[in-house]
Amino acid sequence: MSKSVIVVGTGNAALCAAMAALEKGASVTLLEKADEALAGGNTKYTAGAMRFAYDGADDLMPLLRDRSDAHLPSTDFGSYTTEKFGADLLGFNDGRPLSDEQQALVNTSLDTMQWLASHDVKFEPIYSRQSFEKDGRHVFWGGLTLAAENEGVGLFDMELAAVKRMGGTVRYNSAVTGLVMDGARVVGVQVGDEVVLADAVILASGGFEANEDMRVAHMGDNWKAAKVRGTPHNTGDGLRMAIKAGAAQNGLFKGCHATPMDLHMADFGNLDLPPGERKNYRKISYFLGVMLNANGDRFVDEGANFRNYTYAQYGAAILEQPGQFAWQVFDAKVFDLLYGEYRFFDAHFVEGDTLEALVAKMEGVDQAGALATLSAYNDAVDTNTAFDPTALDGKSTTGLTPPKSNWAQKLDTGPFRAFPVTGGITFTYGGVKVDETGHVLTADGAQIPGLFACGEMVGGVFFAGYPGGSGLTSGAVFGRRAGYGAA
Ligand SMILES: Cc1cc2nc3c(=O)[nH]c(=O)nc-3n(C[C@H](O)[C@H](O)[C@H](O)COP(=O)(O)OP(=O)(O)OC[C@H]3O[C@@H](n4cnc5c(N)ncnc54)[C@H](O)[C@@H]3O)c2cc1C
Repeated sequence: MSKSVIVVGTGNAALCAAMAALEKGASVTLLEKADEALAGGNTKYTAGAMRFAYDGADDLMPLLRDRSDAHLPSTDFGSYTTEKFGADLLGFNDGRPLSDEQQALVNTSLDTMQWLASHDVKFEPIYSRQSFEKDGRHVFWGGLTLAAENEGVGLFDMELAAVKRMGGTVRYNSAVTGLVMDGARVVGVQVGDEVVLADAVILASGGFEANEDMRVAHMGDNWKAAKVRGTPHNTGDGLRMAIKAGAAQNGLFKGCHATPMDLHMADFGNLDLPPGERKNYRKISYFLGVMLNANGDRFVDEGANFRNYTYAQYGAAILEQPGQFAWQVFDAKVFDLLYGEYRFFDAHFVEGDTLEALVAKMEGVDQAGALATLSAYNDAVDTNTAFDPTALDGKSTTGLTPPKSNWAQKLDTGPFRAFPVTGGITFTYGGVKVDETGHVLTADGAQIPGLFACGEMVGGVFFAGYPGGSGLTSGAVFGRRAGYGAA
């Protein structure tokens, strides 16, 4: 007899779990807290980029919708080995070895992408952000080559279509509020007063990034006022339910991905913007200038490394400052180099012809302190080394704390602009422990019968950061695993 499976959530992890369970003959109902427009969780806010190991173009072609794209014959995708993927993850592990979860992510990433493609979830090369042109060829860098057609919304649409084709049903406005237990076994869920019974429950309801109380409890007071870059619905509901049912906590509960964001953005992400504009409240060109806090002090090495390696930590650094804001200061020399998000119609900034005029407009900042800091910075800049934003140019400050280790140019060419920023949380890293079948485990390593988890709810996948595009792949890998396990 076919098994009945409830999936909680409709993000990428939930939809992959549903597809896998349906493939194995289960009858599947997805219960989604949001209405139809906001279903899909953080998945819909993404660029749909997915990182996976591959040997070369032959591995990528079957994943593409349009294999007749005229660019393809002149494209070099290179390779991205499992060793390289593992090494990239290790770079964010603060000395930890690869966890079991990370090894699963790396080793089944390609297979999972092929499986998605087999369900007509198709991809396209990310020419605009991940390749450059050299000698008439498109050369990919960084191991991240493909994104879902039409970004995160497209990924959601294609996966939802697959789920519906296979007979899955979705109920919106159906927040799961508790697990129904029969002894130690999970036998269903509570949706308010309603009980929905099933042979297995897969929790795919995201992290706790949108829950102020849980942020403060696990990550500290600094996180109370954090902006949330994605959905307002990921409030840790599934985590609390699983832990109440005996699940072992896994991974770093104080860890999260958070980036500098426009101080005046709304409290949550905005799906009303067209896909290409959704990232525009982010402000991550700080490496081209300096950041000042309310005291007028600098507080990070803005040029410590390429921004890919610092931006996910600097959201937290801003939230640690007095008043939890900062100003990013640039001079006219770099205006053209700032990412497009600084020219977004709703980008907030002040401008002045002199540093004095600029600082006078920077609300909440100690003006004397700021001018002293900017003057000391300008005096400390190495003027002998050439500025080169495409390399770690070593153009640094001398005798300054904190230093600026690369791209340190004097702020000497007006007009000057300053952008007010705060920290915005992308998603949390703490989760529950699962085994190879996706079963949720207790602290003793025993399965909680009937209970599975995937996506942001799985702990131990990310620690101090992650190579971009790994979040969605993780959701697909652990979602498929949970779906097979449950069915
Ligand atoms: C702005 C932004 C950009 C990003 N860009 C990328 C990228 O390009 N590539 C990448 O790999 N990752 C990216 N990420 C990270 C990525 O979004 C996540 O890793 C991934 O979407 C998590 O998938 P998930 O299915 O676990 O969670 P989600 O997609 O967030 O889904 C969770 C679902 O559970 C629902 N839910 C919550 N509580 C309940 C409840 N009680 N009952 C029922 N339903 C509930 C939510 O409404 C939601 O539908 C980005 C994140 C953000 C915010």
